[in-house]
Amino acid sequence: MNPAQLRQYLEFYRDLGITEILVGQASLPVLSESETLLNIRQDIGDCTRCRLHEGRTRIVFGSGNPEAKLVFVGEGPGADEDAQGLPFVGRAGQLLTQMIDGTAKKEGIPMTRADMYICNVVKCRPPENRTPLPDEMETCGQFLSRQLLAIRPKAICALGSTAAKALLNTKDGVMRLRGKWHKWRDIPVIVTYHPSYLLRAYNQDAKREAWEDMKKVLHYVYD
Ligand code: SF4
Repeated sequence: MNPAQLRQYLEFYRDLGITEILVGQASLPVLSESETLLNIRQDIGDCTRCRLHEGRTRIVFGSGNPEAKLVFVGEGPGADEDAQGLPFVGRAGQLLTQMIDGTAKKEGIPMTRADMYICNVVKCRPPENRTPLPDEMETCGQFLSRQLLAIRPKAICALGSTAAKALLNTKDGVMRLRGKWHKWRDIPVIVTYHPSYLLRAYNQDAKREAWEDMKKVLHYVYD
């Protein structure tokens, strides 16, 4: 295997949330959930199923713990995510990390972002960061559903109204949906603001509410 192939190989497994590979083992780690995520990633392949493939640099499949108790679902990749092939790595991603790690620490919950799984409704960056269109969400949404079924988390946190619409089949916005539990299949769902919305300085009330939502969902999966 040449260095370019090795890099591609390691990036592929990183996208599946596998961060350790034992050197010297005859084969890669085999986890049933990971195998299922692996199958999903293989099915996506070099996807051209919707028009969003035209402008993407990299598919952003998702990352984190394949056995996570909590899955965060965002809208779609932005510029940083598109460049790196990883979800929530830009400014909004840094805020999400602060929210998860900061709230967990304050509440005495021994969890960090690394314990979670994070993905988006669509896996390719929409042009100009526009909201994904309904047909794009429907086409790519099959992969999100399969990821959630593979992981079987104790709860899901929808970040923003696009994720809420995709998961809950609703037209209601975050303000109406947050603060109470919903369901995706039989898995409880909390809806909160997308971190990029919270980055706008005037959203102090939304920030406070988002921290409350985070507290609620972290306690639910940990307690
Ligand atoms: S957004 Fe999803 S369905 Fe569309 S091209 Fe990308 S991976 Fe395929």
